[in-house]
Amino acid sequence: MALLEITNLHVSLEDGTEIVKGVDLAVDTNAKHAIMGANGSGKSTFAYALMGHPAYQVTEGDIRFDGESILEMGADERAQRGLFLAFQYPHAIPGVTVTSFLRSAINAKRKAANGGEEDPIPVKEFRTSLLAAMERLRVPRELAQRYLNDGFSGGEKKRVEILQMAILRPELAIMDETDSGLDIDALRIVSDGVNRLAGPELGVLVITHYSRLLRYIKPNVVHVLVDGRIVRTGGAEVADELERDGYAPYGVEEEAIVGG
Ligand code: ADP
Ligand code: MG
Repeated sequence: MALLEITNLHVSLEDGTEIVKGVDLAVDTNAKHAIMGANGSGKSTFAYALMGHPAYQVTEGDIRFDGESILEMGADERAQRGLFLAFQYPHAIPGVTVTSFLRSAINAKRKAANGGEEDPIPVKEFRTSLLAAMERLRVPRELAQRYLNDGFSGGEKKRVEILQMAILRPELAIMDETDSGLDIDALRIVSDGVNRLAGPELGVLVITHYSRLLRYIKPNVVHVLVDGRIVRTGGAEVADELERDGYAPYGVEEEAIVGG
């Protein structure tokens, strides 16, 4: 059984509009999967449903993680079980430094693992682990002392996201790369970080419109999402085809202005 197993997933918006229309997907550790789709194909809706966002209703199918259905779990519990969603904390938190944010995140995970009893990480252990992760991911030291996402560039936000992933050591990382606003610097940070962390302990699912990110991440498996359905699954060559031909061969007409 794969780490993440999604079967016949249907997701609707609050007004009942069905956006994801029967997705099957299995992602294992040591694998990098990409889901590619044009604007409006349902990528973010799918990602939100995996996270457990209450505005996105799963109407049919199942999401199993580590052999257990997570449909009834809130976003926190999913995270504590080892599911990492890169867009979880997109907002600035005034007065909270990157270091204290990361410490709270790790302590929340430890508390859950300890049956709900506080089990804060010893200061020295946290410091060692943070410094090691920063070194490994080439995160400048001064970033750790700044307030989370307060005036951060796109690249700095990505650095913190990757650092959070390194510290929390999830089993599965899901990244919805909205693409717009990701400059080449940010793309490199995400892909270098993912490549450094990827391995036998981690599965990766990158959701993206553009193949340029995948030039660096080099997924093993690429799925094409059209109108809420996976219409094609293949190797890295699928991303190359999309880069060359766009989504037109799948009957998708794209607008000139691209976004999320
Ligand atoms: P993608 O990420 O592939 O661009 P989305 O999942 O964001 O696609 O959107 C799929 C469709 O669902 C679009 O038509 C979008 O307008 C609609 N949609 C998504 N989320 C909402 C929402 N919260 N409220 C209204 N419509 C939404
Ligand atoms: Mg999107």
